[in-house]
Amino acid sequence: MAAKTILVTGGAGYIGSHTVLQLLNGGFKAVIVDNYDNSSEIAVERVKGLAGQFASNLSCHKLDLRDREGLEKIFASTKFDAVIHFAGLKAVGESVEKPLYYFNNNLIGTIVLLEVMAAHGCKKLVFSSSATVYGWPKQVPCTEEFPLSAANPYGRTKLMIEEICRDLYQSDHGWKIILLRYFNPVGAHPSGNIGEDPRGIPNNLMPFVQQVAVGRRPALTIFGTDYKTSDGTGVRDYIHVVDLADGHIAALNKLEDPKIGCEVYNLGTGKGTSVLEMVKAFENASGKKIPLKMADRRPGDAEIVYASTDKASKELNWKAKYGIHEMCRDQWNWASKNPYGYGSADSKN
Ligand code: NAD
Ligand code: UDP
Repeated sequence: MAAKTILVTGGAGYIGSHTVLQLLNGGFKAVIVDNYDNSSEIAVERVKGLAGQFASNLSCHKLDLRDREGLEKIFASTKFDAVIHFAGLKAVGESVEKPLYYFNNNLIGTIVLLEVMAAHGCKKLVFSSSATVYGWPKQVPCTEEFPLSAANPYGRTKLMIEEICRDLYQSDHGWKIILLRYFNPVGAHPSGNIGEDPRGIPNNLMPFVQQVAVGRRPALTIFGTDYKTSDGTGVRDYIHVVDLADGHIAALNKLEDPKIGCEVYNLGTGKGTSVLEMVKAFENASGKKIPLKMADRRPGDAEIVYASTDKASKELNWKAKYGIHEMCRDQWNWASKNPYGYGSADSKN
């Protein structure tokens, strides 16, 4: 059987680069479209290095998704079996400051992509949604049927794109769409060659912890110590990025199910871990002490969020394999080998 060809938007980014590697290892061909707004061409080179004999099955275009003409050319030259759509801006705080910038990039980028896909008869999509659409859940674990809300413009783009996809499927049952709601992706490929390399001051917990560990920041600020949790800090469902990447392969396989329409799946482990538990696990894995500063809650943060994994387990036949020990071990391996990510000390603040 001929190898399937998958277009991966945002494939140079954190989750995208790990997914592209799993695609290549799984015998797929992959074509990346990325504008490198929050990523580096070095990540793509590293993926090729890790893919060995499969490296020739990867190609990459520097392109903004909103460049319709450029995207048209790519679809005209290659027949895609499906698209995995990661490309988007994801910093919550920045989205509050610059909502139009976020709506323009995330919504228009997606609409242009869907229009070009439709024009070329490619109607299979896997989209990166987020557990942020559960807001502050009334109970846990979060099932896919929970009510949805958005606490900020970033979250609203996820919610709006989910709704666009549901409407699109209603209008044309030829579409097959899987919306994946990621919980908290952390860790890195076990090789330590690819990992997360955010621009500026990290918003998320583990990139911040990692930068403290390598001496780029003096201390981790813990946002909130008075939550109703075992130690007062917020609880999340951390998932190893390689498990998450494998969830995309499972979703691609599910797109072959003739009964699939527009479906949503949680990708998480089903386990909740507090901030302090995560910091302790990282200290154990790295042998580094993480200085802490206790602070007030961060506005918009939920208390406890973790996934119900039943639907993905039953219908995608996918389950996360790794625990927080492996997540922290691999995060530290990446950080210690690449303290400045894909850049150098001179290029980073
Ligand atoms: P990332 O920033 O590392 O990757 C996103 C990639 O998209 C980057 O390489 C960026 O350059 C590219 N991009 C952005 N706008 C583009 C555009 N208009 N045209 C072309 N390329 C563009 O982020 P990530 O952590 O890998 O996240 C991937 C997706 O998963 C995003 O949609 C994000 O919102 C979603 N998500 C991430 C998390 C998380 O915690 N990392 C959680 C839930 C959902
Ligand atoms: N957090 C923290 N300090 C930081 C970043 C995050 O204490 O510098 C906490 C945050 O309040 C939450 C958890 O770590 O309880 C995970 O936060 P992150 O931003 O990584 O994910 P999200 O809140 O989007 O689930």
